Amino acid sequence: MKNNLNPTRSRLLIAIPLTLLLLCVNINAQERRLKIYISADMEGVVGVVTQEQLGPTGFDYQRFREIMTQEVNAAIEGALAGGATDIVISDSHGNAQNLLIEKLPRDVLLVRGFPRPLGMMQGIDSTFAGVIFTGYHSSTTSMGGVRAHTISSARLADVKLNDRSVSEAGLNAVIAGHFNVPVIMITGDDVVVKETTELLGDVEGAVVKWATGFHSAKTMMPEASYQLIKEKAMKAVRRIKDFKPYKIASPIRLDVRFKNYRPSEVLSYLSIVERPDAHSIRFTGKDIVEVSKFLSFINTYELTLEP
Ligand SMILES: [Zn+2]
Repeated sequence: MKNNLNPTRSRLLIAIPLTLLLLCVNINAQERRLKIYISADMEGVVGVVTQEQLGPTGFDYQRFREIMTQEVNAAIEGALAGGATDIVISDSHGNAQNLLIEKLPRDVLLVRGFPRPLGMMQGIDSTFAGVIFTGYHSSTTSMGGVRAHTISSARLADVKLNDRSVSEAGLNAVIAGHFNVPVIMITGDDVVVKETTELLGDVEGAVVKWATGFHSAKTMMPEASYQLIKEKAMKAVRRIKDFKPYKIASPIRLDVRFKNYRPSEVLSYLSIVERPDAHSIRFTGKDIVEVSKFLSFINTYELTLEP
């Protein structure tokens, strides 16, 4: 039998379905990506109770950087076991250079250094499926909680969004929600886990210590905390469809109360800033991105900034 198809046409007949097939495989591969964003703080890390564990001048800091890194690794391991394919971490405590980069898995990406416009959520976008908070602490308005504060323990007495006091977890959940990404898990002391599940609903919570004061807790041992965090992260990613992004109405009214007097006085020189009372300022942003940039600005700017 003679083949009636000319060679060009028969090549096309093979090439077109093959291209379509490859396209489908590619689309499916992209659909199957499940990106998890991890925002890592330090006050809520197992065993942390005072500044000695939290900054470069503390006698315990180098050891607790290691423990913080292992908690993040536990969250990564659990997330991957639960079906995550891509991980981005933001080092979000102090100088944002705490995590030991050589001890993280080779395939993750890490956001380091402050300041940055989205603060503890830099690097989040709408391609992520879920957010995990590790090492988090309760808000400055909390009556208990190890190192309870919001953004700055030394400078701020309250941070409100639309008249509601927020923790860092609450603020960061709003940022994630802006990009339609839900928070799926939090780790820290019993107070921050309770505070966050009351705000966000049934997110997975890993309690690694129980607060007995601002500078005191009854704590698990590191190995037990890694195990718990890994299990919770796996569970959270497996039930990722249960979680909804956290949204609040915009424009967003931000109220910040300073511990000192002069920040509110000087900031109120700006026409975009109101001063409802001696220690407070108010700023209205069209969305949480604008509010986050403003917060980063007021917590960073000073005339002596160099370079
Ligand atoms: Zn913090």
